[in-house]
Amino acid sequence: MRSMIAIVGRPNVGKSRLFNRLTESQRAIVLDYEGVTRDRQYGDAEWYGRYYTLVDTGGFVPVTEEPLLNLMRDQARLAIEEADIIIFMMDGKQGLTAADMQIAELLRNSTKPIFYVVNKIDAYQRKEEAIAEFYSLGSDLYAVSAEHGHGLDNLMDSVANLIEPGEPELKEEVFARVAVVGKPNAGKSSTVNALLGESRLLTSDIPGTTRDAVDTMISWNEREYLVIDTAGLRKKSSISEKLEEWSVVQAIRSIDRADVALLVLDATEGVTTQDKKIASVVDGRGRACVILVNKWDIVEKDTNTAGEYVKVIREEMPFLSYAPILFVSAKTGQRVQKILGEVDRVFEQYQRRVSTGELNRFLAHILEKHSPPVYQNKKLKFYYVSQVAVRPPRFAFMVSNPKGVAPAYRKYIENQIREEYGFEGTPIKTVMRERR
Ligand code: GDP
Repeated sequence: MRSMIAIVGRPNVGKSRLFNRLTESQRAIVLDYEGVTRDRQYGDAEWYGRYYTLVDTGGFVPVTEEPLLNLMRDQARLAIEEADIIIFMMDGKQGLTAADMQIAELLRNSTKPIFYVVNKIDAYQRKEEAIAEFYSLGSDLYAVSAEHGHGLDNLMDSVANLIEPGEPELKEEVFARVAVVGKPNAGKSSTVNALLGESRLLTSDIPGTTRDAVDTMISWNEREYLVIDTAGLRKKSSISEKLEEWSVVQAIRSIDRADVALLVLDATEGVTTQDKKIASVVDGRGRACVILVNKWDIVEKDTNTAGEYVKVIREEMPFLSYAPILFVSAKTGQRVQKILGEVDRVFEQYQRRVSTGELNRFLAHILEKHSPPVYQNKKLKFYYVSQVAVRPPRFAFMVSNPKGVAPAYRKYIENQIREEYGFEGTPIKTVMRERR
């Protein structure tokens, strides 16, 4: 399980700058996912073999026009509640402010490790002078310049010390791990309960890897499934509910441990911004997905309603075009018995392998149909393809020059893979490698 690190602090102290540095710099490698980093609120990074997820709480937008202080208070509480490690950032140019002290006071209620960071120390040689007044908060201070990169090695070495070394990828398992995600009130808990009602309970309250994660093992149709963090879903935090944004972070937590995400939408609300954010996490983390349009019992329907709905979902969430859609009611049980069948289907695709021989016959065929682009006056050559990973399927192409594979041609290849092999419900990845 990835550690979650939250950066908190007043606006403009440089939180986003630090976030960008850590998620983009050479040593903090942004792992292979696109969707999520778009709005720059959370990103995966690595520091010498320690993998973590970084959250920039400053990106959170106030839900109401609350005074800034309340907002910061919520941020701090969220960080205390949800993050594993807290980076509290202040502005060395402005000096220690009353608001900083208030945040520090709130953070003191936490048992989580807190790193006090004074930013904008651009004349790094004279750092002790610049941070002197901040020592009233504690002796463990880090002077940095997020802009110029000073002091970050020092800070991150200490932070990374608290993270267990680990693997970025999931291990292989035989049963599907299922995460039910969605915005507050979409019907996640109801869906989980409906699923539990459909199946045989094997073990409940399996301790998860985090504080309140509790998983449930169920059996249906002679197969087993691990339903992730259902207790965490049932037990709601009032603060988490208040800041809608945080449900995205909770979704990341469950999705990271899952193979298949059940994305629950509220049929009475259409597709909202919040739904799209969570959907982009599912796609960005490279998980299989089934979309559930829930509360279908209370939607006024005519013959076209479902079709229209599918159209809207496909338009609003083009990146999840691979995910099948089910119209369900967790309340009446309508089509709930179909859900785990769909999970089986997409889980199978998620870990499907296509043989190298088969893939190369397919490659010859698609190259013939639509020949590769010319790059720097040379026709690009594709030598070979093989599937290098499952969960999700990943294909490596050996080419004469990876830079020459124009996005449109890559899209063509991906579309052809889907057309030929389906891979319904799972993302697929392609990588272009230079043949030496
Ligand atoms: P969560 O926050 O996503 O876990 O949502 P809940 O499962 O707590 O559901 C939120 C509200 O929607 C509750 O009042 C549920 O009773 C109601 N609800 C959930 N699913 C359905 C459904 O399929 N149909 C109807 N009519 N109401 C539902």
